[in-house]
Amino acid sequence: ATPMSVMVGIGKAAEAGILIRNGEALQTASKITTMILDKTGTITQGQPEVTDVVMFNQQNQQQIMPLIASLENGSEHPLAEAIVAYAKEQSYQIEQVSDFDAITGKGVTAMLNGERLLFGNQALMTQFDIDVAPAVDKAQTLASDAKTPMYFAKGNTFCALVAVADPIKSDSIDAIKRLQDKGIHLVMLTGDNEATAKAVAKRVGIDDYIAQVMPQDKVNEVIKRQENGEVVGMTGDGINDAPALAQADVGFAIGTGTDVAIESADVTLMRGSLHGLADALAVSQATITNIK
Ligand code: ADP
Ligand code: MG
Repeated sequence: ATPMSVMVGIGKAAEAGILIRNGEALQTASKITTMILDKTGTITQGQPEVTDVVMFNQQNQQQIMPLIASLENGSEHPLAEAIVAYAKEQSYQIEQVSDFDAITGKGVTAMLNGERLLFGNQALMTQFDIDVAPAVDKAQTLASDAKTPMYFAKGNTFCALVAVADPIKSDSIDAIKRLQDKGIHLVMLTGDNEATAKAVAKRVGIDDYIAQVMPQDKVNEVIKRQENGEVVGMTGDGINDAPALAQADVGFAIGTGTDVAIESADVTLMRGSLHGLADALAVSQATITNIK
């Protein structure tokens, strides 16, 4: 494409809320064969809400939920924000914990009143030898309903299962269809568990998804496909996504996402909708075909 037509393309995109950093990104975008999409905050709203609270081992919800909120108060994870928001709605008292630690891809831990608190996924419970057998069936049911189940333990006692749901953005399904109609292979990546990932992928019509991806492994998924000869686009919103956005042939950041994601990407989708992604590819294709 001529420099002039590339400038026109970048200008057209900007009018539609798509900020393209350079001409090369605009031209490469038309060649993308595989698009990797982050789940949380990209396909979904990224604002989970508590939907289910189930107690185990004769525990009392009024006593346990404030502990979970106190633990999550130190975390900036969207799951933590959902818990803290729920606790505020219920007017639960939040206490100061000590020795807070976030365990990447698994959950959080801290000390309160001389006891260790743990909240996170099944892998976290396994790591600390907590028996969650009585809750596994229920967790599976919640996950197949596209909810994310989390386990809470106090000391060595498993106490509660809490689920959150992160609604799919209202226009994600249509936008995903547009991308597929362009012949692009879509892959959904998430740190979330297998059953939840499967349920979300099914709802939005994506066959290829990878669950339980550790933040540091997202970039490897991009590299793997590039080595396989694919031209890889990556779309994400989180700090987790930044290395993958930088590695991709073209990285697309959700404009409502984190600054780190935006700085690592070639394109910013200001509207936060996946339609922006389909629009960006359409502008790119139009730029290339008009000039050839
Ligand atoms: P993602 O944000 O894509 O779900 P993460 O790697 O941040 O990926 O988290 C993976 C999983 O680890 C979450 O689905 C959740 O089960 C657990 N987890 C991580 N952080 C927290 C937290 N602060 N509270 C509870 N669970 C957490
Ligand atoms: Mg995300």
